[in-house]
Amino acid sequence: MSLENYTRAGHIASIVRENTRKRNHIGRTLYDICNSIEKEISDNGGQPAFPVNVSINEIAAHYTAEPDDQIVIKDSDVVKIDLGVHINGYIADTAVTISYDPKYDQLVKVAELSLSEAIKVAKNSTKSSEIGKTIENTISHNGLKPIQNLSGHSIEQYVIHAGKSIPNIKTYGSSFSLSSNQAYAIEPFVTTKDGLGIVYEGKIRNIYSLISRKPTKDKEADEFSMYLWNKFKTLPFALRWLVDDFDESKARTMVDYLVKKKNVRAYPILVEGNNKVVSQAEHTIFVTENLSYIITK
Ligand code: MN
Ligand code: MN
Repeated sequence: MSLENYTRAGHIASIVRENTRKRNHIGRTLYDICNSIEKEISDNGGQPAFPVNVSINEIAAHYTAEPDDQIVIKDSDVVKIDLGVHINGYIADTAVTISYDPKYDQLVKVAELSLSEAIKVAKNSTKSSEIGKTIENTISHNGLKPIQNLSGHSIEQYVIHAGKSIPNIKTYGSSFSLSSNQAYAIEPFVTTKDGLGIVYEGKIRNIYSLISRKPTKDKEADEFSMYLWNKFKTLPFALRWLVDDFDESKARTMVDYLVKKKNVRAYPILVEGNNKVVSQAEHTIFVTENLSYIITK
């Protein structure tokens, strides 16, 4: 049953997130951080649902470590670590923001606070706009700004972003009501008052997913597509995850070719519009008729 799988995935995700929160990351490379979190997920009996995102300062989301990424965490950084665990395709999605400079404590705290306020109202039949309003009000009452064009999302088996968006402001996209027997990720992103409150796409793209297996004219590329499907289905992946089976340059060539053929999507990093620092908090909830469970609690 899906709730049982979600509960297992959520339990692993929360253990790994809390270990990540407690650990001192200063001086660690992004490669080491992503790799060790993904290993901890596997060691606990889950599978990573997507490459661990480590997004620093004005990068709000969607950066993952390159193979052998040597970028190092500094004591002045605000680091969003976003991780996903799946059991049989049932995904728990959760994130934590880590910072070492007390001047960012409020930014980090308000992301957590707006998430917990949002979860209080998120039940069967709750309007998505109600959740967005709760997040927006909590953030603005604390003198900070929500990122308008980032949102939470419905989750389906093997599909991390399943079509419905849970906004971080009152009015964004079309409103809908939460349904029972459905999982949703809620994830406020917060920036400072002088931020734009909007993210734009940066140049780097290092998270991918297979979106089509339509044949190309290249037999090797078609075999590579099949490999991706067998290994990841529709879930996101990173080059790091391919280098055990392929030469790094070969993997890169194949992925680039499939991106060009529109069989693979490459997700750009998302950067705050005024290059201001961003924090994030995220939980996955499972809504039933009468209750909603925070599966990543
Ligand atoms: Mn996430
Ligand atoms: Mn998410």
